[in-house]
Amino acid sequence: MLRYLGAFTLASMACITPVFAQDEPSRIVATTTQASDLIRVLTADLPPGTLALTALMGSGVDPHLYLPTEADIRAIQEADAVFYSGLHLEGQFGEVFANLSNRGIATHALSEPVERAGYIIGGFTLSERYQNVADPHFWFDPRNWQMSATYATDALVQLLPDHRGPIEENAIEYAATLSTLFTWAEQAMAVVPEQQRVLVSSHDAFQYFGAAFGWQVRGLQGISTEDEAGVADIQQLVEFVMEREIPVIFVESSVPPDAIEAVQEAVRANGGRVRLGIQTLYSDAMDAPEHYGGRYPGMLISNILIILESYRCAGIDLTIPPVPEELAEGLPAELAQPDCAVID
Ligand SMILES: [Zn+2]
Repeated sequence: MLRYLGAFTLASMACITPVFAQDEPSRIVATTTQASDLIRVLTADLPPGTLALTALMGSGVDPHLYLPTEADIRAIQEADAVFYSGLHLEGQFGEVFANLSNRGIATHALSEPVERAGYIIGGFTLSERYQNVADPHFWFDPRNWQMSATYATDALVQLLPDHRGPIEENAIEYAATLSTLFTWAEQAMAVVPEQQRVLVSSHDAFQYFGAAFGWQVRGLQGISTEDEAGVADIQQLVEFVMEREIPVIFVESSVPPDAIEAVQEAVRANGGRVRLGIQTLYSDAMDAPEHYGGRYPGMLISNILIILESYRCAGIDLTIPPVPEELAEGLPAELAQPDCAVID
């Protein structure tokens, strides 16, 4: 029996190795929640076992500060392709990425086509205020995200040429979704009177969003959460909020709320009133993939509804256009019919 087993095992190994080697899934690593979501969308409905996606960061994780684990580094080094956001969003990955080009691993920064097209906005960091650096939060303009989707589609087709058809079909469908999303977002963000279109939040994540939809944005921290906000930064923002009579300020889901809460308290201490948004905004991390806010359109729609409903709850008279039916599936009740009593 033992001899039989031994012979069986040897024989299996001899024939399994060459046959199954071709059928091994392509190993893809995606860093941020946005990058993982995009790969999932574009590779939806491919036969099981075609690819193995390793998503490094989860919901609520701040990519500026996220330090790759040993397992992450191993996954990256064993990958066939790595998709990341770029422009130093993944601030702690510098060395890991630098070593990849020597290993022949295809790396794709989703910001690359946006940068190439000249749509990158400059930003400032608190530590080096006068130095113009690239703002990494490019995905907040859906037109930029469309460029990333096209770029990722090409990369995936190269990696999985046998699956070109379904990948390209997914890409076409996604382009239509993003276009519908943009049209609605543009209409929705315009319902607030022009002089009140100011978005105040934890860090400078919404410059592209503001530029796309005609809103001024003010972050307490600079374009990276690595910069700590100091007392002077808080004081400046307090003055700005009071001067402009801004009704609501927002905490972001991947940044601790303390600093924004300090701004609210200081405004109150100075005799003013500012509320916190009905929910936290998704800035650098989306929700878990099974949730509405875990997919790009749902993330953006959630943010827009959170902003507009918060303004409405704060007494600004506005009518929000209904979310297009094809994008409304799974919209959480607390956004569809928000309870203004939660606003503080
Ligand atoms: Zn950020």
